[in-house]
Amino acid sequence: YAQQKQENDSKLAKLRQDKDKKSDYKNTLENQISTLQNQIDTYNEQIQELDTKILKTQDEIADKQKNISANTARLKKRLCALYMSGGASNLEILLSADSVYDFADKVEALQMVTAHDTSLIHLLKSEMASVKKQKTAIKQNRQAAADAKTSVSEKQGELSGFVREAQGVINDMSAKESSLQSASDDFAQKEEAASQAIDKWYADYQASQEKKKVELAQKQASQQQKSVSAKTVGSSSVAASTSGGASAIGSGSMVWPVPSCQVITTYFGQVDEVHSHPHKGVDIGASYGSTIVAPDSGTVVMAGAGAGYEGYGNVVAIDHGNGLISLCAHMSSVAVSSGQTVAKGQVIGYVGSTGHSTGPHCHFEVRLNGTPVNPMNYV
Ligand SMILES: [Zn+2]
Repeated sequence: YAQQKQENDSKLAKLRQDKDKKSDYKNTLENQISTLQNQIDTYNEQIQELDTKILKTQDEIADKQKNISANTARLKKRLCALYMSGGASNLEILLSADSVYDFADKVEALQMVTAHDTSLIHLLKSEMASVKKQKTAIKQNRQAAADAKTSVSEKQGELSGFVREAQGVINDMSAKESSLQSASDDFAQKEEAASQAIDKWYADYQASQEKKKVELAQKQASQQQKSVSAKTVGSSSVAASTSGGASAIGSGSMVWPVPSCQVITTYFGQVDEVHSHPHKGVDIGASYGSTIVAPDSGTVVMAGAGAGYEGYGNVVAIDHGNGLISLCAHMSSVAVSSGQTVAKGQVIGYVGSTGHSTGPHCHFEVRLNGTPVNPMNYV
């Protein structure tokens, strides 16, 4: 009945593969996002730098403006003082010149007084214009960096959306994975529980057979004593033929229990990713309803479904009386009953999928003194 687990486990393996692929995809996206983040960080640095520069130019412009205002005020003051001292306007000063020389002196004096201030004001104004130009250029650079950052951020946002999507799929897969994993664990647990229950049944059966043997020996001994004391002549008729449990003795050589099918789907002792414990028999992949026959003659010691080993479904176990017990499991129905003597090749049941099994098959196991042995050595 490892078949169901096998199906489940292969689903699990496929799912894990898909999940790994999705995780790789997500990692690639995340790497791209981190590259974009580096770009964004660089743009942010640039923008910050440019913002600092803009502030600096604004300070410079303000400084120049202040300087211009101060110089303009000073110039005004000087002109004012000049007018006041003459008590007349600039023109009046000039016109009040007594002579050509005096006039020339006055013009010169006026020019000297204003030349320094006006040239300084002109210089400051041209400097301010150049700083304003710089500021405009810096602002343009800043706008370009901000635009680039926006486009990278948009790309990053898009990729983040993909990552969220991938993470959602991965989460779904993880949920599915854990449910498949627990199902697989459950199968393995049930398989192990059924296997242990069957082992216990064998042990109990062996013990009961031993007990019967001892009782029989005691009975024979006491009867012999009786016959000796009664001096009765006659042989003891208490033979081991009927009370030993196995009334029919097998030949030790078995026939294949499913005549219509030779296909083995799981071998004896098979251990792989599906079977954590060695398989105790062989699984024959026969179709539903195929005839199952007694591998050798013997006495039926178990027929039908039993408590504790439900995983085996409908079972027929035959004690062949030579230390060998054969068992066929997962039958759709059994054709014999416990205690019945069967001949080699006699129909004992039909292939099914009872117990923990999805596909019809016959689990055929042979035990020698309770220990599972390879059935292939007896057929
Ligand atoms: Zn099996």
